[in-house]
Amino acid sequence: MDIVTVTHSNLLDYLNDPSPRTLGQSPLEWLNRLNKPTVVHVTGRDRSRTRAMATLLHGNEPSGLFAIHRWLLEQHTPEVNMLFLIGGVYPAKVPPAFSLRQLPEGRDLNRCFKEPFEGEEGAIAQAMLAELHKANPECLLDVHNTSGTGPAFAVTITNDAAHQALTSLYTDRLIMTDLRLGALMEYSEQEVPTVTIECGGGQDDNAHQLAYDGLVRYTSRPDVLSLEEADWEVAVLRNPIRVELSPDATIEYRLEPSGHADMTFPPDIEHRNFGIVSPHEPLGWVGEKGLGILTAISHNRAEGVEQVLKVRDGRIYPAQAIKTFMITTNPVIAKSDCLFYAVKATGEPIF
Ligand SMILES: [Zn+2]
Repeated sequence: MDIVTVTHSNLLDYLNDPSPRTLGQSPLEWLNRLNKPTVVHVTGRDRSRTRAMATLLHGNEPSGLFAIHRWLLEQHTPEVNMLFLIGGVYPAKVPPAFSLRQLPEGRDLNRCFKEPFEGEEGAIAQAMLAELHKANPECLLDVHNTSGTGPAFAVTITNDAAHQALTSLYTDRLIMTDLRLGALMEYSEQEVPTVTIECGGGQDDNAHQLAYDGLVRYTSRPDVLSLEEADWEVAVLRNPIRVELSPDATIEYRLEPSGHADMTFPPDIEHRNFGIVSPHEPLGWVGEKGLGILTAISHNRAEGVEQVLKVRDGRIYPAQAIKTFMITTNPVIAKSDCLFYAVKATGEPIF
């Protein structure tokens, strides 16, 4: 089925200019009232244009939903029409609320924005794309939280003035990647400038505040696509590699290795986020299997990690000065997603 032929989906619920009464007093109350992935339309001053925002594609990343709830309660009139797509309502509602990235038997919704749109999540992704196509927005933001507590950053597959301007509504760091995972930004980019915003940790009040402040800027400015309007310069990090841990390897977060894990990171490893690590600074420890448990994946190939990391006396060091980010201290994320991303200290790709 062509996405263009889907007009009004029963996979989604719709709210038009919702009144505070329908929203509940707290985001949790609102979530309890949502039964499906939900599309929210808000009429703007200029009704000829629309901006879009997706959020909660991961059910445990609530900052975007918190921001939209607060903004809707305050009954702002946006500069242009707003289209909000609230994706992962099903996993978010599983008690305790906002704890599951995806349903236990389900797929990661933000890996489903590609043909053939299989399964429930694929159908939801397809219906969301149909809404975007119908609304024909001038731009799209997809608001997430990082798994750790690191600082905010943006991700895009295109680096031009419009994408940098959208980034600057939230943060001064933009990661440009040619890696394709089936994320919303990849598919929608064909039609409209799209930026993924990672607001910082899902438990972090600063991340919630940033999501709100960014939303106010996004909705209140006549022009969000020109760099002249940007509040600050954006640093671009190109084509980071993902360092992945093999599925059968074990990882622990301790001040000293216990001797039982294939890899050990110190519990404060998250402080390395966006910092430069020199070849003399140890990142952690490996067990007897050495670095063989790791793979470095660039946008076009997978390699061993020799160009990225080296081992001396059981300790892991960068093979060259690198900038690391999206480091997690959650062993589940470390194994199911990735350990961290890295570029050269200059922001250029490692390979
Ligand atoms: Zn996410």
